[in-house]
Amino acid sequence: MPTFVVRATLLIGGILGIAAPTVAAQQSAATGPIIGASTPDSLATLVMQTFSTGTPEAFAAIFPDSAGRVFMRSRAPKQSNLAQVIWRDRGRAVLLLAGTTRDGGGGNQTNNARHFSGFYSAAESGGVWTVTHQIPFDSANYIRSQGLAVDIAPGKAIAVVDTLILTIGAPYGFGFRINNDVKFRSIRLDGKSVAYAFGGGVVWVPTPRKARATLILEYSLAAERRVDSAATPAFGAFHNTDMWHPAFDYISGNHLAQISITARIPAEYQLTTTIPQTVTMSNGVRTVRGTSMHAAFLLALIFDREWTPRTTDFGDFRFESFTTPAFRYPHDTLAARTKYVHDLLARRFGEPQSPSRYLAAVEDRALGASGGFNVRMNNAAISGGGGGSLGSESGQVFAHETGHAWTMNASGRASNFLHEAWAKFVESLVLRDMYGPAAETNYWEATRTSYMVGNDRSGWAGGFEGRQSILGDFDNGRIHYMKGAWILRAANWAMGDSTFDRGMRYYIEGMGGTPGGHEEFVAALSKAAGHSMASFVMPWLTSKYIPDVEARVEGDRLIAMQQQPGETFDLPRLEVELTTPTGKSIRTVDLRNRAATLIIDRIGPVSEIRVDPNHRYLLQRHWGEMVRFELPVSKLTGAQSVQLAATFLRQGVTLPATKSGDTWVVEVPLSEGRYSYVWSTADSVGARGGDAGRGGTTDPALTGTRVVRPLQHVENPYPGR
Ligand SMILES: [Zn+2]
Repeated sequence: MPTFVVRATLLIGGILGIAAPTVAAQQSAATGPIIGASTPDSLATLVMQTFSTGTPEAFAAIFPDSAGRVFMRSRAPKQSNLAQVIWRDRGRAVLLLAGTTRDGGGGNQTNNARHFSGFYSAAESGGVWTVTHQIPFDSANYIRSQGLAVDIAPGKAIAVVDTLILTIGAPYGFGFRINNDVKFRSIRLDGKSVAYAFGGGVVWVPTPRKARATLILEYSLAAERRVDSAATPAFGAFHNTDMWHPAFDYISGNHLAQISITARIPAEYQLTTTIPQTVTMSNGVRTVRGTSMHAAFLLALIFDREWTPRTTDFGDFRFESFTTPAFRYPHDTLAARTKYVHDLLARRFGEPQSPSRYLAAVEDRALGASGGFNVRMNNAAISGGGGGSLGSESGQVFAHETGHAWTMNASGRASNFLHEAWAKFVESLVLRDMYGPAAETNYWEATRTSYMVGNDRSGWAGGFEGRQSILGDFDNGRIHYMKGAWILRAANWAMGDSTFDRGMRYYIEGMGGTPGGHEEFVAALSKAAGHSMASFVMPWLTSKYIPDVEARVEGDRLIAMQQQPGETFDLPRLEVELTTPTGKSIRTVDLRNRAATLIIDRIGPVSEIRVDPNHRYLLQRHWGEMVRFELPVSKLTGAQSVQLAATFLRQGVTLPATKSGDTWVVEVPLSEGRYSYVWSTADSVGARGGDAGRGGTTDPALTGTRVVRPLQHVENPYPGR
């Protein structure tokens, strides 16, 4: 799907073409005691030598952190950069360990190492020092503001002076991440040059604790992304994922800072700083001054000689487009769509993080000529060159990127959930409004199917169920777009519109300048509900499983039970449909524990019991059909073997058809839902389930959509097996 990521963490894997390490939530328990060294210094050296030249087994024996182990195991050759003891007392020490891939350019090097390079705690026991755990990079340290002065030489480099106001609460100094190719001219802390360490994508500045310190960085960074061989290219960009100025990582709340920027570029270029900005011209130089209206973390600089920027104000909301004349959508279309999404959301959820009343729509030709609107950076919704699609009956990419404004400052381990689940939820609201409830229903069904078959960017395909949790895959996961979105849909159902909307407003308003993690999200919903919503929200975030509910009737009692492994869910207002000789009726059960009993009248024999018939929740489904897919042999003349690909199958999986007379046949148990499929000859290439029915070059005679009804209990159905 072309919808992603606020602040582009998926860009790292998806567009910049590197493999982002998947972070496992838990430490591996498989290895024995961690090996150590006789001093903290020799320990630091040993770890980094093993990182760059040892075997994965040797590294795992000395290094307990699972994310670092995953990175070390990746195939790209590594380099060791920093191995220092930066603090110690009798039995404890803090190590600065940094290393990254040898190749890839500075932005990729920094991103590749972002779960590894950093601070580690070491402890001594019986004369042996061992690494105990990673110390989160932002522990007790804050970036309060950044004041950037940037000179842009398109196609060549940027020269930067960044004045940061910091709070330094850690006893071992201050660290930040930045593009590994940055060339520092000076680093000054409170007016004095400091001896800093830089490598593996991190900078460490030794300093005592300070409630307020001023750090001034002077550096240059060469243009990495050469998209055009001309001496002065028509366009270019320094994206947030290029880490061209300091941050802790992609999810910290501690670096959400007031950011101001003064950027200078030759006057023939237009420039967006991705935050509200003003422009002045003098002596052939365009000077762009931007000020973040709320705390932000990393800016992008995107420029183009062909843009004709235009603005439209709706009251005190400003919309600005930066597009070339060839862009598919004119300014007025984009402005009208922006206002439409804004008004639709504001009616229910208020204004986005007040006062974030600015949106830029940017054609970023440095992203290539495809993709449409697919990423959000601060106040900018960003499209690849040309424009793609604003949305369709199956998804609303422009509304997705616009809607990000409401939870833009979400932070912490649930930040991708709070960003992407929300933006996907926004799409559903727009679909309902534009196309009606059937389109919205189809969207949620497709989102569920995607969760069940699952395809993760880190390479494996095979369903998220039982394999990932939201908090366990905080970094880059696709799970947030699917299961995450369903959590908001379920909360909306469980709480009702007015309470849910109030809860979201509390959460959104609370983020004006301060971080908002899942703790704040739970607190906001709880405040609106008048009771704690933790038991409702948390199992969805921590469990690798979705609820699996069965119900039965015994006499005058309806008994509902959760039977999934792991966490017990709180499922209020769970609907159960009972079929009796007099018809169907829906009972509502608050299933807050493993089992709940509802007293019902003696209603006579119950022939069918269906849990959640209206799909309010993301649940395991036990009802469906044995579905027979048939293709006349004449549709694929001469084919020796035929296969079916479908959205209910995992990527790369197809089902072989059997020939019955003049018909190819596939028979398969399917759970209730709506699925697309495509037939192909077994020797043809490119028929993937994920592409089924999504247009393109596929022959319409070979594709279709199948609605599967809840006609019978089916054992082990697709999708999800
Ligand atoms: Zn997104």
